[in-house]
Amino acid sequence: MSRRIPLHDITPPAAVDPGSVDLYAARQKIHTKAFNGFFRNVRVIGGALLLLLYFGTVWLDWNSRQAVWWNLPERQFHVFGATFWPQDFILLSGLLIVAAFGLFFITVYAGRVWCGYTCPQSVWTWIFMWCEKITEGDRHQRIRLDNASASANKLLRKTAKHSLWLLIGLVTGITFVGYFSPIRELCLALVTGAADGWAYFWVGFFTLATYVNAGWLREQVCVYMCPYARFQSVMFDQDTLIVSYDPRRGEPRGARRKDTDRAVQDLGDCIDCTLCVQVCPTGIDIRDGLQIECIGCAACIDACDSVMDKMDYPRGLISYTTEHNLAGHTTRTLRPRLIGYAAVLLLMIGLLASAFVLRPLTDLDVSKDRMLYRETLQGHIENVYSLKVLNKDQVAHTYLLQATGLPALDWHGTRELHVPAGASQTLVVSLSSAPQAVPASSNEVTFVARDIDDSTQRVEVRSRFTGPQVRQ
Ligand code: SF4
Ligand code: SF4
Repeated sequence: MSRRIPLHDITPPAAVDPGSVDLYAARQKIHTKAFNGFFRNVRVIGGALLLLLYFGTVWLDWNSRQAVWWNLPERQFHVFGATFWPQDFILLSGLLIVAAFGLFFITVYAGRVWCGYTCPQSVWTWIFMWCEKITEGDRHQRIRLDNASASANKLLRKTAKHSLWLLIGLVTGITFVGYFSPIRELCLALVTGAADGWAYFWVGFFTLATYVNAGWLREQVCVYMCPYARFQSVMFDQDTLIVSYDPRRGEPRGARRKDTDRAVQDLGDCIDCTLCVQVCPTGIDIRDGLQIECIGCAACIDACDSVMDKMDYPRGLISYTTEHNLAGHTTRTLRPRLIGYAAVLLLMIGLLASAFVLRPLTDLDVSKDRMLYRETLQGHIENVYSLKVLNKDQVAHTYLLQATGLPALDWHGTRELHVPAGASQTLVVSLSSAPQAVPASSNEVTFVARDIDDSTQRVEVRSRFTGPQVRQ
């Protein structure tokens, strides 16, 4: 007789059978121990540079406007001296491809250094952990506080921590929105209540996103949400730098006094102090081998090196090494995969740079009026057009406008158009021609915008000139 499977039994397996593993176990809160050391200093410097870049750039000015400004209403993206328009978004795609190949190259060579040192999720999480430390104390004090029953002290410390988190989230959110709406005016408008409703919404959204991601979700973002964590393992090879524990040297592990003769007790170098686990922001034990949760931050290296120093053992029981090294082979630095990524990266950088340098600095957009044509008092056929001239250069230009394609085509409207730097001007013009000079009901005409001072800066756009049906 077949066994009936209860369809709605959601009892966790671990509750039924103590020997099984519950894949849906609730998250265990990680109390990370703060630790100083060489790699921690590298992280602090890397994080400080990133923060300076993020919080500082938005306050820089260039030619009396914000230096980096994504002006969505005007569809312009200013980056210091350059202005990009929607037509240039192919460059953005190129930039993303370069960034992707840069990340692939770094991952093949040095594993997850991006995650450990410069990923915003990691950098903001380290800041939030620092807030935790100054408000609730170090690891053991935080564990004690979490286990303690409600008290004024607990309430005060938790309130201080969450207030700091929210404050950092708020500054992060305002800065982010400041890249889309000039930061000085934005700050003033937010304070006086004059800001747009959307500005309040997006500031609130990014404040909350920072607070939740760096304060509550932390390593879960890296483990469950980040796609890079998922596919980076396929980029690793046996010569990729990874943070690794050397089991040949460390095992058998065991606690001992400093003066213990290891040869007599048959012990490896690992004293099983678990300091490497306590400092890990993702709460794993690197001695179990390389795991998807490891973000390569090297906090465990700093911790273990300090233990080795105290025990007078050589450093490097946990280190940046490669699988080949751990197996006693020599690491190959130059290998086909790495060279391939480097070659593609250089090629993409070259293509992107030339696309940027060679991009036209003038653009012309022509839209024909919906009315097909009209007859003038002189009996001529007339078509109306709206012309938009974009000057992507950093200096103002004057353009000469003309149209070709039909004989005896008359231009009605301004011929010369002055366009300020990084701006666009729109004007309405009309073309007319005698009916006998219009050979078909739809005829091709070409509009030309040419820089008066530099004839190489010209752009041509085709359009249609419509007239009455021509009887054969
Ligand atoms: S910190 Fe070093 S010695 Fe201590 S448990 Fe980890 S690997 Fe072993
Ligand atoms: S195992 Fe070490 S390198 Fe990996 S996340 Fe933990 S502390 Fe960082």
